Amino acid sequence: MTIRLFNTMTRKIEEFKPLTPGKMGFYSCGPTVYHYAHIGNLRTMIHNDILKRMFVENGYAVHHVMNITDVGHLTSDDADSGDDKMERGAARDHKSVWEIAKFYTDEFLRDFDDLNNIRPTDMPRATDYIAEQIDLVKKLQDLGYTYEIPGDGIYYDTSKFAAYGALTGGSVAGNRAGARVEYNNEKHNPTDFALWKFSPTDQKRQMEWDSPWGIGFPGWHAECSAMSMKLLGNHFDIHTGGEDLSRIHHTNEIAQSEPITGAPWVSYWVHFSFLVDKSGEKMSKSNGEFLGLDVIRKRGYDTMVYRYLILLGHYQTQLAFSWDAMDAAANGYKNIVRRVAEILADTDPGALVESTFNEWHDRILNPVSDNMKTAESLVQVQELLRDKSINASTKIALFEFIDRLLGLQFIDRAKKLNDTESETAPAEIIAMADARAAAKSARDWARADELRAQIDAAGWTVIDTRDGTKIVKKV
Ligand code: AMP
Ligand code: ZN
Repeated sequence: MTIRLFNTMTRKIEEFKPLTPGKMGFYSCGPTVYHYAHIGNLRTMIHNDILKRMFVENGYAVHHVMNITDVGHLTSDDADSGDDKMERGAARDHKSVWEIAKFYTDEFLRDFDDLNNIRPTDMPRATDYIAEQIDLVKKLQDLGYTYEIPGDGIYYDTSKFAAYGALTGGSVAGNRAGARVEYNNEKHNPTDFALWKFSPTDQKRQMEWDSPWGIGFPGWHAECSAMSMKLLGNHFDIHTGGEDLSRIHHTNEIAQSEPITGAPWVSYWVHFSFLVDKSGEKMSKSNGEFLGLDVIRKRGYDTMVYRYLILLGHYQTQLAFSWDAMDAAANGYKNIVRRVAEILADTDPGALVESTFNEWHDRILNPVSDNMKTAESLVQVQELLRDKSINASTKIALFEFIDRLLGLQFIDRAKKLNDTESETAPAEIIAMADARAAAKSARDWARADELRAQIDAAGWTVIDTRDGTKIVKKV
């Protein structure tokens, strides 16, 4: 099947051509572990995961690298100034930098797993690749791309790299236009950035290393260039990240890498749009007020509902988060789970019909392969459920495939629903269920649906099986 993706570099949807047939290597910018991940960061992780699953279902062997940033990410990306986010987080939590790095990495992975994302093949930490980052800076120095600002650090001279800014279509001068930040006026060009920062002389940093230029720490962009080249080679297929990263971080990664590897370093650049709030404001860790996955759990939602909400949107469109949207997603998700539970409980499932399986497999995979249109794929899932001509065995085999592709765990949740013992429901719930059964036999579907909704609102679920209707507490 043809795979198509929007490439930020060319600003076009392009057909994917692998560097090595049957293989796909990709690098994703991972979390900076100075705080909990918010559900915006996790949106990006879900899109990364769909990208991976889509390639796997198309028969590719996927090598996925995602870094953990545990040093060097300063509070001002534009100015290469301010505090190291990690050191600031450690002061906030009254712990060491190393302690918070471990703590927030573990918390991040708990959320990552809970959303049923497949773990990356490699998850390198920036602090484990200091030698490689120093080596990268040395190579750039030998090639004449660097200069030193005494007492500050080693900087990359962006005027030496002709293609600087190509990713966002900007010129060197234009790239920062309008960015209302102060920058270090000792830099030769406003877009120049730090490759190696010196430790301050008046205070001791918790994380610092020796280098040919003096004690200090690597600039944030260096880690992604050094680790991706080390783990994926000098040319790899796809590089991903949130939409905020293209203008500075990825632009600088390209400038650092291509003089060493030769262009192009990456074949396709894929950026995921932000999760925003009702007023369109980006959810961000640095403003301190954000929603973590824990809030979603504590409000009683299955975390799969959040994944489902994300897949109802498209990665190139910002998504405004609201609890109303979550409630609508919860209804949609549970409705599918309930219907899968009914299919699983079918006592006469029939034999798998291969031609039907193949037709629907493609109907569901095609939209995802076409620039990751997960919402269109979910429309096909609804159609599949509606199609009464397909037997239960074929539908279940298709749902196994849907779970591999979209990771929504429909079968797992449906099994849990079916395993829930029929409980003794209060008399009024049983009465509503009986009234619903009567409405169904009278073919009054509207009334039956209305009663189902009422039962649902009262905290119970009815599941129709061939053996009759089961009433369980809502999952
Ligand atoms: P950070 O932990 O801030 O380094 O970000 C980790 C990943 O989440 C990066 O790929 C960011 O671009 C992405 N990201 C940050 N904020 C958002 C947001 N509000 N919505 C979606 N992705 C985001
Ligand atoms: Zn990165």
